[in-house]
Amino acid sequence: MERVLLLAHVESSGEIGKTTREAAQGAAEIARGLGAELVVGLIGARAETQAGTLGVDAAAFLAVSGDEFDEARYASDAAASTALVKASEATVVIAGATSRLSRALPGVAQRVDGRITTHVTGAEVDGGQLSIERWYYRQRMKATLTSPRRPWFVIFAPGIYGPAPASDEAVTCRAIGVPAAGPWRTRVIGEDAGSSEGQTIRPDATLLFVAGAGWTKKQGDGASHVPEAAELIRGFLDRSQASLGSSKSLVDQSSEGGDVIPFMTHLNQVGQTGATPRHPKGLSTCCHGEEPHVVGWRFVTERRAVNLDANCGWARGKADVVYVADAFEVMKRVNELLG
Ligand SMILES: Cc1cc2nc3c(=O)[nH]c(=O)nc-3n(C[C@H](O)[C@H](O)[C@H](O)COP(=O)(O)OP(=O)(O)OC[C@H]3O[C@@H](n4cnc5c(N)ncnc54)[C@H](O)[C@@H]3O)c2cc1C
Repeated sequence: MERVLLLAHVESSGEIGKTTREAAQGAAEIARGLGAELVVGLIGARAETQAGTLGVDAAAFLAVSGDEFDEARYASDAAASTALVKASEATVVIAGATSRLSRALPGVAQRVDGRITTHVTGAEVDGGQLSIERWYYRQRMKATLTSPRRPWFVIFAPGIYGPAPASDEAVTCRAIGVPAAGPWRTRVIGEDAGSSEGQTIRPDATLLFVAGAGWTKKQGDGASHVPEAAELIRGFLDRSQASLGSSKSLVDQSSEGGDVIPFMTHLNQVGQTGATPRHPKGLSTCCHGEEPHVVGWRFVTERRAVNLDANCGWARGKADVVYVADAFEVMKRVNELLG
């Protein structure tokens, strides 16, 4: 008989994050399918007061609480997770792919002699058997896997399940102690944004805005207009709160000594050797839409592109709509319309 643990943490803002709520929904569905008991294990400064807000119907709620569990730190997250897995006696451990748990859980799986599968994009229960879906080779091949090993840790990528509804239900929570807790050698002294001009990667944004190398190329007047490009892109991001993606050619320009968009880093790169972000919509600008780039759009459902070239890659079945237009003019007008 399986026993499912939803392993989760409270964000340091005091909220339960969207990725965690999605995993909660997934854990509830898997437990229902398996006819298994669902246990919730929550980590945070005051985790016991927040377990009920997860909005899942669980047989038991366990919490590791304390100020030292407020911040992301491998040692305390791994110790707390190990204590929760052991206390729950779970055979299947479900978590959302937050940066904290993605980092801590592979080590936890080792500590409890379990197995872990990360980047999971779907799950099914058939005849009492759990199978999960996962992509390989930069999202080119999809596999369906089962595992006989227990406990089996399954980390869900964001966007697979709808988030479990928030609740204000009070639940009875069992406090779980962490053996040999602290003092931790790592102290968290603050957070730095990944780029010098603030965060441009927003995984929860509805829209992915991709900038390509065309923004820095010579335009119709024979000159390049990189500062104007940067202003248009920044202006659009501020107004729309879209997440910023890039082609490889654009981010590589910094290492090649060319004129660069100052807030663009290699972290923004989308594609075969970049990221595969998940957003409901994507808008590509000044980017040719070559296959090694577009393979990173696997999980972007509705796609549009602005390109001067009517024969660009996007126009060959890779986008739903292609505007054959000057992106400088288009984005200037879009920014005006957004106010
Ligand atoms: C092994 C390997 C891995 C790779 N991995 C990646 C990856 O992860 N990600 C990635 O992006 N690439 C990757 N590439 C590179 C990829 O093949 C392309 O070279 C790259 O995506 C091209 O970037 P681009 O479209 O921005 O630039 P370009 O090909 O230079 O295209 C610029 C486009 O801008 C348009 N343009 C110019 N001015 C305007 C304007 N005013 N308005 C509208 N449009 C305009 C042009 O018409 C042109 O289509 C990889 C390549 C290899 C071989």
